[in-house]
Amino acid sequence: LQLSKVNLHKILGDIIILRMRATEGKNIAFQQQFDPSIPPILADEGLLTQLFLNLIKNAVEAVEERGLVKVVSRVISDYSMTQKGERRSRMVAIDVCDDGPGIPREQLEQLFTPFFTTKAKGTGLGLAICQKIVSEHRGMLKVESNPGKGTTFTVMLPLIQ
Ligand code: ADP
Ligand code: MG
Repeated sequence: LQLSKVNLHKILGDIIILRMRATEGKNIAFQQQFDPSIPPILADEGLLTQLFLNLIKNAVEAVEERGLVKVVSRVISDYSMTQKGERRSRMVAIDVCDDGPGIPREQLEQLFTPFFTTKAKGTGLGLAICQKIVSEHRGMLKVESNPGKGTTFTVMLPLIQ
């Protein structure tokens, strides 16, 4: 890890601009909703860029002819138990949401397995790499999907490291 203080919103904004020019001819609205109180975080800028590129690329690939891709940042509290009792730490959560077809329940568990893909030309490596990058940063990666409505991937990263 090449740690430095990185501005998450700058990374996310740059990726969104890049992806707005690569929408595979679809009519996609991009929205960003950032919490301006989020400070720079200690992270590997190159890896975070790769992480969010993968997630936003998947979102663009998931939406049909017209759709919405939304990126949200927010601060959350993470509760964990230690021997001394409950400990609360602040984390930043980044949601990457799309209104594509969603993911069937029976596929949710395989998503992060290397080479799992449902795409004709997919590698199935994107989410496996995302998972690795998030865990190297001591964070968490979650997915929530409503078939027919859309999917949200949430990256959680420690705010103070
Ligand atoms: P690839 O994109 O090469 O298929 P990934 O690891 O990035 O590999 O994704 C694995 C699979 O997870 C995809 O093939 C797709 O079935 C599913 N998936 C990932 N993101 C989404 C999404 N936003 N909406 C629906 N399905 C998704
Ligand atoms: Mg992918």
